[in-house]
Amino acid sequence: MFYTLSSRLWFTYALLIVIVLCGVIFGIYFALRRSPLLYRTTYFQLKIMAILLSRRLQLVIDDSWDQATSIFIQETQNGAVRTALLNINGEMVLATVGDEGLQFPHISDPKQLSDRTDNEVSTYRDDKGMEWFYIVTPVNRDYYILTAVPRPLLPLRSILTNEFIGPLIQVGILAIVFAFFISWIMASWIARPLQHVVISAEALAEGEYQTIPLEGPMEVQQLAKTFNEMSHRVQASVQSQRDFVVNVSHELKTPLTSIHGFAQAIVDGTVKKKDELNKAGNVILSESSRLHRLVNDLLILARLESGTADFQKADIALNELLNNMIDKFELQAKKAGVELKTDFNGEVIVYADGDRLAQVFTNLIGNAIKFTRRGGKITLSTILEEGNVIISVKDTGIGILKKDQNRIFERFYQVDESRKGGVGRGVGLGLSIAKQIVTSQGGDIWVESSPNKGSNFMIKMPFQRPKLINGKK
Ligand code: ADP
Repeated sequence: MFYTLSSRLWFTYALLIVIVLCGVIFGIYFALRRSPLLYRTTYFQLKIMAILLSRRLQLVIDDSWDQATSIFIQETQNGAVRTALLNINGEMVLATVGDEGLQFPHISDPKQLSDRTDNEVSTYRDDKGMEWFYIVTPVNRDYYILTAVPRPLLPLRSILTNEFIGPLIQVGILAIVFAFFISWIMASWIARPLQHVVISAEALAEGEYQTIPLEGPMEVQQLAKTFNEMSHRVQASVQSQRDFVVNVSHELKTPLTSIHGFAQAIVDGTVKKKDELNKAGNVILSESSRLHRLVNDLLILARLESGTADFQKADIALNELLNNMIDKFELQAKKAGVELKTDFNGEVIVYADGDRLAQVFTNLIGNAIKFTRRGGKITLSTILEEGNVIISVKDTGIGILKKDQNRIFERFYQVDESRKGGVGRGVGLGLSIAKQIVTSQGGDIWVESSPNKGSNFMIKMPFQRPKLINGKK
C-alpha cells in the first residue's frame, strides 16, 4: 500500500500526529482530573460543613452527649455531604443516618490528619470503587469529624468532549493535510537526486559516463559522490583496457611486419646474396627475440596484476643481491662506456622474493645503462631510515621530464625521444613490472629526475638487521 517514498513519509507523519494528539488529550484529561479549580464548589461545601459542625459540637460535646448527638443528626440529615464523628482511636461513634451505602475511610489516627495546617482535602476509593473527597476536622481533644462527599465525575468528561476534543480533531485533520504536502516536498527533495543516480547507473551500463550533481540530503549527496568516483574509475579501467589492447596490437604488429617482410623476401628469392641473407636473418632474430620478451613480460605482468603470481619469500641479504647485479651488468656497462659503483650503508636483510627482486634491479640497471651516455656513472646505494631501507639506482643519463615521471610506471609508456630501435629497444613494460613486484611485497618505488642530469630510481622496503651467530654475522 505504501510503496512510494512520499506515501511512507506521509504515513509516518500522520501516525506521529495521531500519537501526539492522543498524548495531548490524555494530558488534558489527567491535568483536569487533578485540577482543584473544577472541584472548588465541592471543596467549599465540605469545608463549610466541617467548620460549622465542629464549632457547634465544640460548644456542647463536653457537657451533654445527648445534645451533641441531636445537633449532629440535625445538621447532617440533609445535603450531599456525609459525616461521621470519630473518637481519638479513629472509631466511628456517630455517622450520617441512612447512609448504609457509604463506607467511610478507616482512619486509625485522626489527630495526625486533622493537625495538617493546610486543611487539605484527601481522596479515597470505597469497596464499590467509588471515589470520595474527605476532610478530618478536630472537635475537641477526644473527637473528630470526618466529612466526605462523592467525587463529581460528569463535568470532567463533558468539559473534555465539549471544549477540547472538537478543536483538537480539527487541528489534527489540518495537520494531516499539511503533512501530506510536506511529505510530498520532502520525498521529491530526497528522491530527485536518487533518480539521477538511477539514470546515471543505467547510462553507465550502456557505456555512457555521466557526472551526477551533488544535491539533496547529505547521505544522498554522499551516494552521488561515491557513484561519481566509481563511474570515473570504471571509465579509467575501460579506457586502460582499450589502451592495453591497442598497445599490445601495436607492439606485436611492428616486429611481425618486419619478420613477415624479410621471411617473404627470402622465400620469393628477392634476398639472395649472402650479406643480404645475413642481414635479413639478424632482423628476424632481433624482432623475434623482442616478441619473445614482450610475451614474457606480458605474462609476468598479467600474473602480478591478477595476484596469481607466487612469491617465494625468504630473508635476503640485500648487499649480496646488489653485488650480484653489479657482476651481471659489468660487461654490458663496460661496452656502453658507463661506470658501475656501489655505496652500501650497512648490512641489511629484507624479507622478499629474491628472484623477483633481482628482476626489478635488472630492469632498473638495464634502463640506466640504456639511457646513460658514454663516460656516465651509475651508483647503487642503500640508505637506512626508521625500519626501512631505501635502495637507489642513480644514473647520470638523459633524465626524464617532470610530465613523464609519473607516467613511466604505466604499462607500455615510453618517453618518445628515448625509443631506440634494434635489439635493445624496450616495450615499456619493465617499470610496470618493477612497480608491481615492489608494491606486492609491501614496498614503494618512485623516481626523481632532471633532464640531461640523470635519474634516481628509489625503492623503499622494510628491513631487518642480520642476527649475530656466536658474535659473528
Ligand atoms: P622500456 O622497456 O621502454 O625500458 P620501461 O618501463 O622500463 O620500458 O621504461 C619506460 C620508459 O621510461 C622508457 O622507455 C624510458 O623512456 C623511461 N626511462 C626508464 N628508465 C630511465 C632512465 N634511467 N633514464 C631515462 N629514462 C628512463
